[in-house]
Amino acid sequence: MVLDEELDRAAAVLRQGGLVVMPTETVYGLAANALDAEAVKRIYEVKGRPATSPLIVHVAAIEMARSLARCWPEEANVLAGRYWPGPLTLVVPKRPVVPDVVTAGLDTVALRMPAHPVARELIRRATVPLAAPSANRFTQLSPTTAEHARASLGDQVDLILDGGPCQVGIESTVVSLTGDPLLLRPGMISLAELERLLGRPVKTVSKVEGPHPSPGLHERHYAPRTPLLLLKGEPLPAGRGAYLYWSRPQRAALQISMPATAEGYAKRLYEELHRADAAGLDWIAVETPPDEPEWWGITDRLRRAAAK
Ligand code: AMP
Ligand code: MG
Repeated sequence: MVLDEELDRAAAVLRQGGLVVMPTETVYGLAANALDAEAVKRIYEVKGRPATSPLIVHVAAIEMARSLARCWPEEANVLAGRYWPGPLTLVVPKRPVVPDVVTAGLDTVALRMPAHPVARELIRRATVPLAAPSANRFTQLSPTTAEHARASLGDQVDLILDGGPCQVGIESTVVSLTGDPLLLRPGMISLAELERLLGRPVKTVSKVEGPHPSPGLHERHYAPRTPLLLLKGEPLPAGRGAYLYWSRPQRAALQISMPATAEGYAKRLYEELHRADAAGLDWIAVETPPDEPEWWGITDRLRRAAAK
């Protein structure tokens, strides 16, 4: 539970250039005033995040988003109208008021209105947009509880707000609207839903030629310390390990039965990976999720976690 005075204190910390861990519905965020370049630099230092990886800016109102965007295409209205507040990030051309450090020097900015009431109330009280990546050291598992964030960053942040476990559980879907709509990162809002709403095809980065338009797309990301392998019905490796399955159980030191719906699975994924990682086992094996559009965001995170 977050108290009223805590929110006021957190808002004051942010206005003074400090760092606050805030709950969102996707994962916990490490927030700073997005208009304060020095404060945002501290986010990169604390996370150990490379300066080439741009941050998502969180807003509490559409007008706040538009005040940061050089233009606001009609498709942004359509997508924001349907999914904000919620787990969708829109990339649009940026105004000069957004410091380069936020966008890793890009001429575009990623914007999202979070659904978690604590996050939105914090932005309102701070009266500024908040730049916030996940509240963990770079390449580690994202936090879905305040305790995860405390364990990863605890003494390096000014304040941690505990808003309970995250309801979505994986990072937002990221769509670029700087040209034809382009899915930069899959999430729980699926490609199929986006295409249905926009009434036209949405490309994905894997199909795009040339350099990545999204510098945050590091291959290894979201990874536990314990080696993670994705299995398609193969037997488990030798040694002691954890097995996360949604349809076919196998005997393992730690057997974790996962929900068979994408929503239920996403909500529990990082929590279970944190738990398995803390158990000091030889490996974490994961049964490959169903090959269906609504599972694509989940499979993306697992594939990156398994990457060497
Ligand atoms: P995270 O690392 O979870 O904070 O995710 C940030 C995501 O937003 C990454 O996939 C970034 O590449 C993407 N992103 C942020 N800003 C931009 C931008 N200006 N252009 C393209 N992608 C962006
Ligand atoms: Mg992250």
